[in-house]
Amino acid sequence: MKGVVTKSTGSWYHVYAENGDMVDCRLKGKFRIKGIKSTNPVAVGDHVNFEYEEGKETGVINQIFQRNNYIIRKSVNLSKQVHIIASNIDTAFILVTIDSPPTSPGFIDRFLATAEAYSIPAVIIFNKIDMYTPQELKIKEELEDIYTSIGYKCIDVSATKNINIDKVKELMKGKTTMFSGHSGVGKSTLVNAIEPALNLKTAEVSKQHKQGQHTTTFAEMFELSFGGFIIDTPGIKGFGVVDFDPQQIADYFPEFFKLKSKCKFHNCLHINEPNCAVKDAVENDEIAFSRYNSYVQMVEGDEENYRTAIYT
Ligand code: GDP
Ligand code: ZN
Repeated sequence: MKGVVTKSTGSWYHVYAENGDMVDCRLKGKFRIKGIKSTNPVAVGDHVNFEYEEGKETGVINQIFQRNNYIIRKSVNLSKQVHIIASNIDTAFILVTIDSPPTSPGFIDRFLATAEAYSIPAVIIFNKIDMYTPQELKIKEELEDIYTSIGYKCIDVSATKNINIDKVKELMKGKTTMFSGHSGVGKSTLVNAIEPALNLKTAEVSKQHKQGQHTTTFAEMFELSFGGFIIDTPGIKGFGVVDFDPQQIADYFPEFFKLKSKCKFHNCLHINEPNCAVKDAVENDEIAFSRYNSYVQMVEGDEENYRTAIYT
């Protein structure tokens, strides 16, 4: 029978079967998926096939279907192994606020580039719009202009005043989604507004986090009452890590990627090269300077910098 993995607790996996059963499953034998050296063979979000164990209510996973995408975390030791946090994510929402806490374009751009690298569609949510000053509203509009022109959907939300929660729900319906953003932007509040039944869980996690207790937590997927799933990654507080090859970063900036073929050099980094279509576009205001700035920082920044940025 087919199902989707909603939780992993070491050697057992909760599988939400297509007949509606929630079945505890184990793995049979060794699973290796081509191309990834991961510490966990099966991840939350994986679509699997399983068989019920004879005379029992438990099951054995015998097939893992190909993942559309997945996000990873590096293992702590120096081996090349990665831990797959979650897979088959339809939308990654990034929650931002202009000033409470402040969100830099650099943070947004790194997130978006990471989502592109993972092949996960991203949507930007501006939260707390009920409390923006006129100046903050203006900044928000400028950012929205930039991101919508590139093709990213932006939604203005107030999680506490219940503004546009329906729009977010509409995008979540029937999909597997996750929320990221700096601590304090209102992730828990928004998730609670979307699905009050998840209230307890998120509140507990953020409380734990604030007290600085570091508990080992795993990603978990929750079914939404209006259809679809939300992936919660407590304790991870981020969006995984991509080791960017400087030469590839521009491919994850869609508006740069489009111009790539017009640069004189096929391997143009768009930094010091002459006759660069990307630099021309920045000069002509066709590419936002803030985007170019984020790009240059990513190309020149070291990996450690990058990680710090994505995990805060
Ligand atoms: P998290 O760390 O991202 O989970 O953030 P929380 O959900 O804990 O929210 C942080 C603070 O922001 C809380 O005091 C919330 O009440 C407040 N907050 C969340 N959403 C909004 C909003 O839309 N408007 C206003 N004014 N405050 C909000
Ligand atoms: Zn170029």
